[in-house]
Amino acid sequence: MAKTLFENIWDAHVVAQEPESPAVLYIDLHLIHEVTSPQAFDGLRKRGIKVRRPDRTFGTLDHGIPTTDRSLPIVDELAARQITIMERNCAENGIQLYGIKTGADKQGIVHVIGPELGLTQPGMTIVCGDSHTATHGAFGSLGFGIGTSEVEMVLSTQCLLQRKPKTCNVRIDGALKKGVTAKDIILGIIAKYGVGGGTGLVYEYTGTAIRTMTMEERMTVCNMSIEGGSRAGLIAPDETTFNFVAGREFAPKGAEWDKKLAWWKTLPSDAEAQYDVTYSLDADALEPMITYGTNPGMGMNITERIPDPDKIADLSQRKALEKALSYMGLQPNQQLLGHKVDMVFIGSCTNSRISDLREAAALLKGRKVAEGVRVLVVPGSTPIKKQAEAEGLDQIFRAAGAEWREAGCSACIAMNGDQLEPGQYGISTSNRNFEGRQGKGGRTFLASPLTAAASAVTGVVTDARVLTN
Ligand code: SF4
Repeated sequence: MAKTLFENIWDAHVVAQEPESPAVLYIDLHLIHEVTSPQAFDGLRKRGIKVRRPDRTFGTLDHGIPTTDRSLPIVDELAARQITIMERNCAENGIQLYGIKTGADKQGIVHVIGPELGLTQPGMTIVCGDSHTATHGAFGSLGFGIGTSEVEMVLSTQCLLQRKPKTCNVRIDGALKKGVTAKDIILGIIAKYGVGGGTGLVYEYTGTAIRTMTMEERMTVCNMSIEGGSRAGLIAPDETTFNFVAGREFAPKGAEWDKKLAWWKTLPSDAEAQYDVTYSLDADALEPMITYGTNPGMGMNITERIPDPDKIADLSQRKALEKALSYMGLQPNQQLLGHKVDMVFIGSCTNSRISDLREAAALLKGRKVAEGVRVLVVPGSTPIKKQAEAEGLDQIFRAAGAEWREAGCSACIAMNGDQLEPGQYGISTSNRNFEGRQGKGGRTFLASPLTAAASAVTGVVTDARVLTN
């Protein structure tokens, strides 16, 4: 029977399945960080259980780790406590930690370092106590976020109880125009199908626009699958994927590589495979996207005007938009172009990779950040930071007036003072614009690194094509 990529991975990992019950799914890779794992380790301790597969569990410090000088004491008490506990839990259980005292040269955001280290490979099941684990789906692996009790389940058994989701083919054909990026594709999908469009589904992104993307672009697309409501987002592995994985620290080598590669090539969906749902987006018609509201689905072309709640028939949608615009201090039919920004954040597991930094640096080169605008540039990992510095990108950012930081989540979750003040506006390359996400009372516009960099220069929401044409 013809099968989809998702079904191929799922079937290869079901350990047991009773009728009407969730499947017991084997997990190949468990990534942990300092925020969602402490209670899980406590649970294991109380039950006198050891971690089942410390060799398949990898930790990093990203959410709470300061992105300033790490030789200094950590001021935020909560972050300091979480980091100390994470260090102790990993040491006690023989888990590799990429942090401050150990593995510092490879530390970074969990969804950036997995692929970077070659831990993320096609056909795997990958979980992490973090919503954006879908990022790993860019490699043709089934990656999804889990809750704290599930982290404990995986730590103790290396398995997880899961109900099988349905499949959705998200077909994106065409070629992106100059100045339109992978970030705009995923913001476009979520704006079109809504934050609930993927509920109960696993997205598989297909089509010519996806096949011509780099791995970094594919990661940006898959990263925000959860924002569209889907359980995970997958892209079939191909030569681009194999070339990215080959030679990385944890990638298979020699005969093992040949064996794995042969299996990986069998994973893509059969031509006759049936999906439960099909969505589509025309890449040719896409413009740079920006959000105006308080969920990632409240997005539009940057040149458009904010929708009018009075024209929305659905009562709950109308109320949601009214509430969002009230929080954002915006009016129906208003253009966002020209709206002031107080902070620009270039970073997060969505857009902090070397290509994102290169794009932003190319725009900022020889230009200055507008007066009064705080610009944070936060690489996704320490290796990315080093690579950027080797290319002189840090000098470009600093010369422009931006802050150049150590790797971590930073302003994506308003940690260690990297945040908006009440009432301030920020343009951010991250993935969530919820109320207070980037600081209490802070208002976030989500956009691509190009849009963020252009807005940093002008101090107002700006279509980067105006500066680059
Ligand atoms: S960058 Fe933001 S979304 Fe990504 S892992 Fe960190 S906190 Fe989560």
